[in-house]
This record gives sequence, C-alpha cells and structure tokens, in this order.
Amino acid sequence: MVSSREKVALKHETQDNILLYINGEFTSATGNKTIINMNPFTNERINEVAEGQVEDINKAVAAAREAFDHGPWKTMKLTKRMEYIYRIADLIDEEVEKIAYLEALDTGLPISQTKKMVGRASENFRFYARMVESRLVGDAYQVDDEFINYTINTPVGVAGLITPWNAPFMLETWKVAPALATGNTVVLKPAELSPLSANLLAEIIHRADLPKGVFNVVHGYGETAGDALVKHPDVQLISFTGETKTGSTIIKNSADTLKSCSMELGGKSPIIVFDDADFERAMDACVWGIYSFNGERCTANSRLFVQESIKDEFVDALKKRVAKIKMGDPLEAATEVGPLIDKGHYQKVKSYLDIAKEEGAEVITADIPEEMAKGNFVAPTLLLNAENHMRIAQEEIFGPVLTVMTFKDEEEAIKLANDINYGLAGYVWTNDIKRGHRVAHKVEAGMLWVNAQNVRDLRTPFGGSKYSGIGREGGHYGFEFYTEQKIIHVSIAEHHIQQFGK
Ligand code: NAD
Repeated sequence: MVSSREKVALKHETQDNILLYINGEFTSATGNKTIINMNPFTNERINEVAEGQVEDINKAVAAAREAFDHGPWKTMKLTKRMEYIYRIADLIDEEVEKIAYLEALDTGLPISQTKKMVGRASENFRFYARMVESRLVGDAYQVDDEFINYTINTPVGVAGLITPWNAPFMLETWKVAPALATGNTVVLKPAELSPLSANLLAEIIHRADLPKGVFNVVHGYGETAGDALVKHPDVQLISFTGETKTGSTIIKNSADTLKSCSMELGGKSPIIVFDDADFERAMDACVWGIYSFNGERCTANSRLFVQESIKDEFVDALKKRVAKIKMGDPLEAATEVGPLIDKGHYQKVKSYLDIAKEEGAEVITADIPEEMAKGNFVAPTLLLNAENHMRIAQEEIFGPVLTVMTFKDEEEAIKLANDINYGLAGYVWTNDIKRGHRVAHKVEAGMLWVNAQNVRDLRTPFGGSKYSGIGREGGHYGFEFYTEQKIIHVSIAEHHIQQFGK
C-alpha cells in the first residue's frame, strides 16, 4: 500500500542533479563541483546541486550584462515585457502543488504553509506587473515660465539577488519580480540549503521564454558564489535577505564597486499584549506568529511582553496551546511544525535552550517522538521568566522558541520593546485604540501591526530599521531601488546664462 506521502513524492519526483541556469541554458558548475542537498526530515540525501564557482558567476553576469546592454529586454514595449511577467505568474500557478511539495521536502516547512507561500509567489509577479503599469511614473516640476523639469525611471542594470533558505520561493520571487518588471536583468544566488524551488523558478522562466541572459541562477555557497556576485564590477544592485552579520559583510564587500544595496535582515520582534486585549485573538496571533514556518521567520514575534495583570492566565493558556501543536512530517497536511533546515541550525536553536537554563529562565519544551528522531526537530518551546537583558531575549534564535517577559505599563512596554538592536516588526494587542496607535508609533521597527497577525499588504513598504535592514522594498517603494531616477531639465524660455570671456 502506497502512503499519501509516497503518492505525492511519486508525482513530483525530484531531479537528481540540479544545474545552474546561465544565458538560457541549464549547465554544470565549473569543475563539475556539486553540493549534496539533504532532507531535513530524514537527514538523507535528496539530490546534488551544482556548486557555482567564481567563473560561473562571471559567466552569468556576462550574460546578464549582454542582455541588458544589447538585448531587447529594457527597450521592449512595456505591454510586451509585462506579458512575460504575467506568463511567469500563470506558469507558477500551474505548478503550485509541485513547488509546495519541493519546498516542504527541501526546507522542512509544513506543506500546508508552503502552499500558501506559493500563492503569494505568483501574486508577486502580477502585483509588480500592475505596479509598473500604473505607478512607475515620473514627476514634473514647473519653474516659472522658464523650465519644465521632469523625472524618468530607467532600469539600473544587472541586479544581483541573494536569498536565504527560509521561505525561499516566496522571497526569491519577491525580488525577481520587481527587478525584471522594471527592466533589469538578474543573477539570482539562492541559499545553498534550499535550491529546489529556485531551480523550478529557472525552469518556469525558461518556459516563459524570456530573452536569453535576462534571468540567471547560480547555486553555490555564499562565501564563493555570493561573494563573487557582490564584488563583480558589472553588477549594479545587490538585494539581499539574510542574517544581519552577512548583510554587513556584503555592504563592506560591495563598497569598492559602489553598489546600491537593499538589506532585509534579521529580527527579534516584540508582541505586546495589554490586559484589555482580545485574549483569544491575541493568543491565536501570538502562537501562529512564532510557531508557523517552524519559527524560521524573520518577522516572527519571538519576544512576548504580556502585561503583569494577565500574565498567569495568558501563560497558562499558552502552555496548553503549545503542548498541542502538531509536530511531524512536513509532507503531511496536518503537520503544524516540521524539522529545522539542517543539523547546524538545529544545534544552534537547541543551544539556546541550554543558554536559557544558564541564564535562569524556565524552559518548557517536549521530547521528540521516536519516529521523528532522524529529523532536525526542536519542539515548540516556551522560555518563561526571561529578562530583556538575557541573550534569549536579545539574539535571533530563528526557531520555534518564544521568550516570555512581562511589563507593568505602557511606558515600560515601549522601553523594553525598544531595548534591542533589531527593529524589523512589532505587534500590539489592546482594545484601547488610542494606545494601540501610540505604542505602534513608538516601537522602533519598520513594520507594526495593531490587533493583527502579520498580514502583508504588498502595496506598503517592507523592511526594517536598526540592525534589521536598510531600505524598503514593496509597493512603489521598491522602485527607488530597482530603477535609476533621472532628472531632465528643459529650458522653455531664454533664461539668464553668464557670459564668461565675452
Ligand atoms: P545567511 O545570511 O546565512 O544567508 C543568506 C544568503 O546569503 C545565502 O544565499 C548565502 O549563501 C548568502 N551568503 C552568505 N555569506 C555571503 C557572503 N559573504 N557574500 C554573499 N552572499 C553570502 O542567512 P540564512 O541563514 O540563509 O537566513 C536566515 C536569516 O535571514 C535570518 O536572520 C532571518 O531573519 C533573515 N531573513 C530576513 C528577512 C527580512 O525580510 N528581513 C526575511 C527572511 C529571512
């Protein structure tokens, strides 16, 4: 009897060798080097992935450069370019099941959640096609009767896109869509730990028949392939999502070639629950916000500040909910939390449970059932009685681990929430609407939600402050990064010109 898991696997068989995609062709890496891609649930080999070298980045950038400088992409009619973008979205929709499966297999994210993310991926393309058609506009400045000055937006050139392993397909398309829609050409360097869906994106774009060299994928390690992309003189833009430390290295390494960098980095975001909040909804949002996507989520509410007056009640309810979260095989529809991406990350997350004990916090976690012993599982965990100065409250753990703290009043909640290097997101729960706004204004983060879980509106700016990032993508805000704004000054009268040497 074939299990439901095996049936899905048979339907979406994975390729044994994932290749690079350069200049419209799938190709091996220089020297035929490969990386073994592991399954986080079994820690067995899934397949092998071409390990791109500096030479491969050079080839991909040369192809993207040629396509930008001499190809039809940036000069073709807008409607034609958008036809390609819409076609990519349609092709993604045709492959939803397969992409969701590959993503779950590759990353350990539960398949019910990867399915939602893939839906967002095709919307990334449609959204940016609509945005370019309607909002990629210039401004005109009249100067008396003497000048009309106006701005135009032109594509910048070759965009280097570097992405992490959490939510790979959604994050890759979040960058590829605006980069292509605005007329740039692209070299994507996906995370070495999650290459499967990026390969499918290359296949989809290949089928969409984009002109050669417009889109390229070079798999490989950050320190080699990623680094070569960052330092390449023919690359104008680096859009990076990943750890804060890596972001800072990339900024340094891109300085010699003066690249424009967009940085979407780590987070340790607070959720502040006041005693007048809708208890059940705040609970739902808090649990989902930290334990969904295995807690490997940049905007996860990993620091809970609950008002002292409801602490006991809230923590008791939390314990009951967390104990019932369903860990399991990421390919099973009912699984809520799957295994972490790899052994290294598993060890890092686990180490924080020891650190918590050393720091004097109480660790509430569960044993891993025998049938999951091979996987990189950390059970949904609560770290109680924590204090804001502790490492477990200050450092990004990036797993299903919630650090729980309390506050007395509004002033203290804001002070504690802001006493940290990160500033990506924040969540405020209160039924006092004035207070909700006040707190949201004062919490130092790029994105705040009041009485809401993390629901994205693609029209709005996305990004963080402090150590969580530089710049904003999303909506028309992304145009500042993905286009060059040019000002044209036109004299419409005889304005005064100094007459030197006359
Ligand atoms: P990471 O920084 O280790 O790697 C990200 C990417 O950078 C990978 O493709 C990697 O190969 C590459 N890289 C590594 N070193 C490089 C170098 N020297 N030069 C060029 N490229 C290099 O991050 P990760 O562990 O893959 O992802 C998890 C992190 O991403 C977390 O910190 C998380 O918060 C963050 N993240 C942020 C956002 C956001 O929007 N702010 C979204 C998702 C994830």
